[in-house]
Amino acid sequence: MNRLAPALDAVRLACTLTQRAQAELVSEETIAKKDRSPVTVADFAVQALISRHLRSTLPQDSILGEESADFLRSAEGSEVRRRVVQLVNAASPAAAPEEAVTEEAVLEAIGRCNLEGATGSFWTLDPIDGTKGFLRRGQYAIALAWIEEGEVTLGILGCPELPHDPQNPEGPRGLLFAAQRGQGTRVLDLDGRVLGPAEVSQIEDPAAAVFCESVEAAHSAHELHAAIAGHLGVTAPPVRMDSQAKYAALARAEGSIYLRLPRDESYQEKIWDHAAGSLVVEEAGGQVSDAQGRPLDFSVGRTLANNVGIIASNGRFHQRIVDAVAKALTENSKD
Ligand code: AMP
Ligand code: MG
Repeated sequence: MNRLAPALDAVRLACTLTQRAQAELVSEETIAKKDRSPVTVADFAVQALISRHLRSTLPQDSILGEESADFLRSAEGSEVRRRVVQLVNAASPAAAPEEAVTEEAVLEAIGRCNLEGATGSFWTLDPIDGTKGFLRRGQYAIALAWIEEGEVTLGILGCPELPHDPQNPEGPRGLLFAAQRGQGTRVLDLDGRVLGPAEVSQIEDPAAAVFCESVEAAHSAHELHAAIAGHLGVTAPPVRMDSQAKYAALARAEGSIYLRLPRDESYQEKIWDHAAGSLVVEEAGGQVSDAQGRPLDFSVGRTLANNVGIIASNGRFHQRIVDAVAKALTENSKD
């Protein structure tokens, strides 16, 4: 079954929605979730939009999305709920006024992405990955992936703020990265025009690498990354970026290493934070593993419960990074 075209259309529409939402964002539209990560009206609206698009094109498919409908259900009559519905309607293609998407339809579309168990074959969606980047007008990504019996076979990243040319950050922005297992990763603009294949950097010497990490120091251990980079002889300063845009950057050779070592070893990475991004890098010629060099295991539910940490690279010296991580961790445990 061809899932690529409908999934690309869904993510493209979502990019238009987030760009509009960002232009109009006001602070009341950010609600503190229980874990205190910010969630905006745009997260809900994107999940509703993509859920509706996939249902109309691929009605049999199940979806596991990051957001729950509980908050919006409880917020009857609120401005937040009104804005979410308004954003979904503004982004829904060619709907006549009498066919406007209702509040209940929006809530239902968000709520149906609550796949229990997360096994078998299903979509996983992070409607806005890097919400903090979205709020600070940095990088964020819309991440949609198809997981088939534990294997990611299709991954799409919508990166509305990535410049077309990394050398020209003030130039045109907005890219899609579409990866299909065994068929490479393609880069498209937000109109859906193919710009070319994504290919990781060709460098063979880790000392020449640029490495990426999160902006948020709470999301990974920056000091440990600095020690790992030191062991590899890396001299360039880290490139800090929110969201799976880091995977996209690696896939197009804007950097050769992405490190995500946890601050707290008990943290379990969420599958929607890595499914699309990891395939985008692998199909661009790179390699993705956990901190010990093991493949990411997408077969065990909502989290990567069998993995700790993430290492992504251009694949030319992956084992050397794994060794440097082990060395830095051993030194750390002696401190
Ligand atoms: P990034 O923009 O790369 O820092 O990653 C954003 C993602 O980090 C969010 O989608 C969250 O799911 C995830 N996240 C939240 N808390 C943590 C944490 N303590 N460690 C690692 N990732 C986290
Ligand atoms: Mg996320």
